[in-house]
Order: sequence, then C-alpha cells, then structure tokens
Amino acid sequence: MKYRKMGSLDWEVSALGFGCMRLPSRRLNRLRADKESSIKIIRHGIDLGINYIDTAWYYHLGDSEKILGEALKGGYREKVHLVTKLPIHIVRKKEDFGQYLSKQLKRLQTDYLDGYLFHGINKSSFNKIKDLGLVDEMEKAKNKGFIKHIGFSFHDTFPVFKEIIDYCNWDIAQIQYNYIDTMFQATTNGLIYAHSKGIAVVIMEPLKGGRLVKPPAKALEIMRTANNKRSPVEWAFQFLWNRPEVAVVLSGMGSRQMVDQNCDIADRSGINSLSKEDEETISKLAKIFQEKILVPCTFCEYCMPCPEAVNIPQNFAILNNVYLDNSNIRKWMTKRGYRNLAGSKEKLDKKNPNGNASMCTKCKKCIEKCPQNIAIPDELEKVHSILAKRGRISDYYEVN
Ligand code: SF4
Ligand code: SF4
Repeated sequence: MKYRKMGSLDWEVSALGFGCMRLPSRRLNRLRADKESSIKIIRHGIDLGINYIDTAWYYHLGDSEKILGEALKGGYREKVHLVTKLPIHIVRKKEDFGQYLSKQLKRLQTDYLDGYLFHGINKSSFNKIKDLGLVDEMEKAKNKGFIKHIGFSFHDTFPVFKEIIDYCNWDIAQIQYNYIDTMFQATTNGLIYAHSKGIAVVIMEPLKGGRLVKPPAKALEIMRTANNKRSPVEWAFQFLWNRPEVAVVLSGMGSRQMVDQNCDIADRSGINSLSKEDEETISKLAKIFQEKILVPCTFCEYCMPCPEAVNIPQNFAILNNVYLDNSNIRKWMTKRGYRNLAGSKEKLDKKNPNGNASMCTKCKKCIEKCPQNIAIPDELEKVHSILAKRGRISDYYEVN
C-alpha cells in the first residue's frame, strides 16, 4: 500500500480508503449489509494496509456503522483512521447533534472518531449548519475528545464549496471527483482551493458509481491502443492519485476480489506518475463518457427507499446503459432489464425495491436527498416513455 499526506494532519494515510456504503448485501434484502462477509472484507482491507475507513449514519440503513463497530474489534480500531458523518438532513435542532454523535459512537463501539463530517452538504444544509451553530457543537465535541478532526462531504457547486471552505478551519473535505466530473460539483478548482488551505481532500465516487468500470467500445479501443495498458478501473484511480491535491480515494468495496484488485492498483500509484500521453488518453476517455450520460445518477442510493418501491437508480442505470450499449442485441438485453422490474402494485417488493419508473407517484420525497440534483420524478417519466413506450431518446435528451 502507498501512503500519502493528509492535508495538514500528521497522518500517513493509505492512498485507498475503505468506503463502507457498498458492503456485501444480505441475500433477502439488498439494501442491508451482510454482517459476516462485510466484517471479513473490511478486515482483509486493513490487513492489506488500508488505514482510512469511511462510513455514515445512513449507509445500509444503519448496518454499516454497526458492522464496522464489530469489524474493528480485536485490535483493528487502533490501526485505522475512522470517519463517519452527521446525518445533517434529519437534524432538526442543536441538541440533535450530541444525540446522533453519541449513538454513532455506540454503534461504532468506539470512544472517539478520527474524523466527523457533515454529510453531503449543499447550500441549504450549510445554512442549517450555520443557523443551528453546529460547527460550535463540533468544536465542543472535539474539546471533549469525542472527535479528533472536523469536516464535511459535499454535493453542490464550486461557489458554494468555496464559501464553506472559507467559513471555518476544516480538516477534511470529501468531494465527488473523477475524470469525467472535473467540471462538476466542487470541480478541479475546488480541489485545488481546498488543498491550498491545508485541508485534506478525500475523494468519493472515483468510478462514478461504477460507470467508469464499463466503458463504451470507443473508450475501450483507446485503452487497448494506449502504450500503457491499464484496466478501466486503474485509469480512473491513477488519474486521481496522480494529483498532489488528493489525499485519500474512497472506494465502496463489496467483495474480497475488489479489495485485492484496488489495493494492487494503489500499490502502483504516485503523485505525478502519469505521463503526458497518459493524461491525453484520459482526456479522450472523458470526452467519450461525457457524450454518453443521460441521467447523472451515481447509484449512491441516498434517494432510497422510495415509498412506492421504485428502484430509482436501477431505472436510471438501465436508461444510461441502453444509450451506452453499442449493439442492438445489447440494447435489447438491457431493455429487458426494465421489463423485469415491477410495473404493478401486486408485483412490488418493498424490502427489495423493484418498481419500474411507472410506479412513481411524484410524491417528490426523493428529490431533496439526491446529491446530483436530479429531478427524479421527471426523469423517471422520461425513462418510462423511452423504455416502455418506445419513445426516442432524442425526443427527451440532447444527443448527437
Ligand atoms: S417521487 Fe417517485 S421515485 Fe421519488 S420517492 Fe416519490 S414515488 Fe418514489
Ligand atoms: S438518483 Fe440521486 S440519490 Fe438516487 S441513486 Fe441516483 S444519484 Fe443517488
């Protein structure tokens, strides 16, 4: 494992961080995490040198923090920097801060957090943080020893990011960044700005919710003919580790094989390790991907569960993949995935949300939760028009 500087903190942090939002799921409920297999892969990652672990109140409907608490027993806790997040969207009053923090410490079976972040903040939740004086609450908890360092994870635009960065002395900023999102959300400017202030920048969504793992044929061809042979995953990771401003890259790992593969890639990482030609290759790849995304869903599942059991990210993934697929047969097979989702109340399964886009009642409960600001009900309507009513993509999206 390679280790890197963590902003101004005196941590030697592993290039790869373990994101605990995509742990192995339970057989009968895929939103929940399977305890036994999750513990095994978390410990395996730590044994391979990972020392930064990221979780949150919401992940796997609370299972993530609880399972992590178990996984870090037996000497593992002392080997890692443990970071979790305050569920700011459900905090209503100042007193909630201490209540969530103490519940999270209990779930994680620890006396302190190495980092505590406001979760997924945007302009409106940042206003809430200011109105309720929650940074002061963070500082108080820090003085009492419950938190070592403070920060936030972020989903909004660069001007909002800059405003937040300038608000107080943060230690950690977690942003969505990958080679197709350089102009999206915090952007490259935000990454550079936070780093210039000595803030450790942690990267989430390095593979854009898995989308960079399965590139379109044109992109695969570029990778095949590049002088340096790398897998799609490796191109995406090395792009990030090449940058001096990046501290840790989080990966939500759901299998031992994924942990092995990512640790192996991290071993080959380094600042400024990419050649000019490599960088040109990545620019070409980015261009191809950017032309191919209709709905910018990253499969984070923050919008879930939907009260009508619509599988929101799955519906978007099918539409994006139909557009991404290169052959008619693959398009047909992908569309079949849409027909396999439930289109009637009788077939819905609330434990394993399986509804297609037509089941959306436009209650709008999901909209606020989406860090990508996707107008979910409107987009679902388009999904259904295209995938079930044979609408043309070009009638709903600007495509070439
Ligand atoms: S708007 Fe539609 S998709 Fe969103 S929560 Fe309501 S029913 Fe579910
Ligand atoms: S629609 Fe938004 S909240 Fe839901 S999975 Fe996609 S990106 Fe995440």
